[in-house]
Amino acid sequence: MTVDTRLAGGTVVFPTGTADADVLIDGDRIAGIVESDAESSVDATRVVDVSGKMILPGVVDPHVHVADYNTIDTYETASAAAALGGVTSFINFAWQAWAGEDSDWDQPGPLLEGVERHKKLGQKSHIDYGVHAVVTQQDEATLAAFGALAEAGVTSIKLFTTYDCGLSYGFMNDALERASELGLVVAVHTEDDSICNRNTEQAAAESRTDPTAYPQARPDYAEALAVDAVARMALEHGAKYYGVHTTSKAAVEALSRYTDESTVRAETCPHYLTLTEDVYAEQGQLPVIAPPLREASDRSALFSHLASGTLSVIGTDHVANTRAAKERGAWWDGPYGANSLQTSLPIVHEEAVNKRGFSYPFLARAMSDVPARTFGLESKGRIEPGRDADLVVFDPNERWTIDAADNKSKADFSIYDGREVTGRVTHTFVRGSLVAEHGDLVGEPGHGSFLNRSVPNWDKEMDPDPKSDTNTEGPV
Ligand SMILES: [Zn+2]
Repeated sequence: MTVDTRLAGGTVVFPTGTADADVLIDGDRIAGIVESDAESSVDATRVVDVSGKMILPGVVDPHVHVADYNTIDTYETASAAAALGGVTSFINFAWQAWAGEDSDWDQPGPLLEGVERHKKLGQKSHIDYGVHAVVTQQDEATLAAFGALAEAGVTSIKLFTTYDCGLSYGFMNDALERASELGLVVAVHTEDDSICNRNTEQAAAESRTDPTAYPQARPDYAEALAVDAVARMALEHGAKYYGVHTTSKAAVEALSRYTDESTVRAETCPHYLTLTEDVYAEQGQLPVIAPPLREASDRSALFSHLASGTLSVIGTDHVANTRAAKERGAWWDGPYGANSLQTSLPIVHEEAVNKRGFSYPFLARAMSDVPARTFGLESKGRIEPGRDADLVVFDPNERWTIDAADNKSKADFSIYDGREVTGRVTHTFVRGSLVAEHGDLVGEPGHGSFLNRSVPNWDKEMDPDPKSDTNTEGPV
C-alpha cells in the first residue's frame, strides 16, 4: 500500500485519550492510524517527521464574522489567519438584509439571499467554510424559508435578542417551533436589549467615555436574563438551542439548569477564558467586544462549566477591524469585536492546558469534535480513518510571543499582542493538502469548499463524556 503522506512519530489526540502513532493521509482522507515503530508495510510519498509533537484534529470554529457588514476580513484573509492558527473549517454568518441604523442595506431581503451571497464570496477561502443564516425579518416569508435552508446545506440559524436586528420573544417563539420541526440548530446571542440600551445611553449622557465603564453597560445579569428566557422557550418546543459566546457566571449558571436536556448546548470564547475587564484600563477600546469581558470569578466559572460539560464548545467570534476604527469615537460608537482566528488554539492551549491542567483531548473535544457534531459536519472534527484529513501538527514546547505584525487578518492589532505562550501550530492540513507550515501560508486561495451540513444528531449518547478523560483536572 502506498499513501500520499505519513505524519511520523507524533502523539495523536482523540476525544477521550491520546496515542503515540503515525497518521496516514491519502487523497483528502485519513487513510489509517498505525504504530510508529513497526516495520511498515505502508509506503508514503512524503514523510513528515512530527516526533515530539501533537497531532490534533483541525479546529472547527463555529463562530466567525467574515465578509459582511460588521467585519473587514474577506474569506481569503480570514481563512489565511485561520490556516496559520490550525483552524480547518469555520462557520460564518449569512445575514438576512435589514434596514436600520447599524445596517449596510437599504431594504430588507429574503433569508436565502445571504446564503447565496456567501457561497460566492467564499470561493477564495483557504479552508472549508459554511454559514449560519441570520434571521433579521419578523415575517411569515422568513419562517417559510427555513425548509429551503436545510436543502441549501445550512442547518442552523442565528437570532439576536439585542441590537436593531434583534427579534421579539413572540417571533422567536414561532421561529423556535419551526426550527424544531426541521431539526435546525438555533444559535442565539442573548443579552437583554432594553437594559443594555438604557445603560449605554446613560453612560453616553454622562460622558463616561473611559472604556472601563463599558462592562456595566452590558452587565452579566442582562446576559443571564435573556439566556434564561430563550433557552426556556427553546425547551418548550424541543428546539436545538445553542448559546453563543457565554461570558459570565450568571449566564452559565442560568444555562446549567437546561443543559441536562439533549437540546441545549453552549459555547464560550478564548477571550472570556483568558482576559478580564482589567483589559479596558490596559488596552482601551481595542477589546470592546459584546458581551463584554468580565471578572476573574466569571472566568473561573467558565472553566468549571467546561469541565462539567455545561459549556462544550469554544468558538472565536472573530471580527476584523482596524485599530483606527476601534479607537474612533467613544466606546459606545463601536464597532464591537476582535480578531482571534490566528491565535485561538495557542491561546486556549496556554490557558487551559498549560495553566489549568486541562488535557489535549479536552482541546480536541471543545474545539473540533463537539463543534463538528453540533453543526452537522460528519466528516470533520476527529482523527479517524475515512474522515477528512483536516489535521494540525502542534509543537507543545515552542515558546513564542504573539505579534500583531504577523496577522493575516486585515485587523492590524491583537488583544493578545506581546503575550508569551508555549505551544505553536507547525503544520495545518485541510483535506490532505498542506495549507500552512511554520508560520507561512503554503496553500492556494480557493482550496476551501462550502460545507453542506446535515441536520445534526444531538443525542447525548453521541458525546464523549468529559469525565471519562482522567487527565482533565479541571480548574485550579
Ligand atoms: Zn458573533
